[in-house]
Amino acid sequence: MDSITDNLQAVTARIDRAAAAAGRDRRTVSLLAVSKTMPAEAVRSAVAAGQRAFGENYVQEGIDKIAALRAEGGPTLEWHFIGALQGNKTRSVAEYFDWVHTIDRVKIAERLSAQRPATLSPLQVCLQVNISGEASKSGCTPDALAALAEAVAALPRLTLRGLMAIPEPSADYEGQCRPLRQMRNLFEQLRARHPGLDTLSMGMSHDLEAAVAEGSTLLRIGTAIFGERKAKP
Ligand SMILES: *Cc1c(COP(=O)(O)O)cnc(C)c1O
Repeated sequence: MDSITDNLQAVTARIDRAAAAAGRDRRTVSLLAVSKTMPAEAVRSAVAAGQRAFGENYVQEGIDKIAALRAEGGPTLEWHFIGALQGNKTRSVAEYFDWVHTIDRVKIAERLSAQRPATLSPLQVCLQVNISGEASKSGCTPDALAALAEAVAALPRLTLRGLMAIPEPSADYEGQCRPLRQMRNLFEQLRARHPGLDTLSMGMSHDLEAAVAEGSTLLRIGTAIFGERKAKP
């Protein structure tokens, strides 16, 4: 067994334990393997181990891997765009990806909807919330969320699925839980108005347990599956 197979098993075991500890049905927690900066070969290893959903942060790198894996004709994979999205890159994202987690303004959502090819099913989207209020981070403010959700839900070629957050890292468990719990509350409030929402995208390698405890339905895990990333030059 290669290390990616081992790592995927270890991550799956962590999710199993966290779900059991939280009294949650294990089937309500999915795993997105974040393959940013990793070669297509790493994705192939994860696919061989049974993983089907992958997250990418950089548009060109992502579509290169998507095209390479598709050309090989293996199992159907689900590709999630989880990076910061600029207006001039939306077309490629709309054409190649199945999901986008980082919608934080109406303008970007409108472009994605207009550019989603008619031959594909609607793009599945989450709204990113800047839950820790960090000036350097993308995401809409909690106050702006209801209006953004209303606008995005009305776009014909997008399906609003839920919320996504990258909280400020915290070394202690309770510090990790606090913003994740705020996200869960925002999600529940929004769901009263949009009953179809089913996705709370939160939890990374370091805070997976806290995220499962606070209701995450989609964990985005990179390092714990693929190993440390090289620093960007
Ligand atoms: C890189 C990244 C992850 C994965 O983080 P790890 O700490 O490597 O698990 C998850 N979400 C987003 C948005 C990322 O950019």
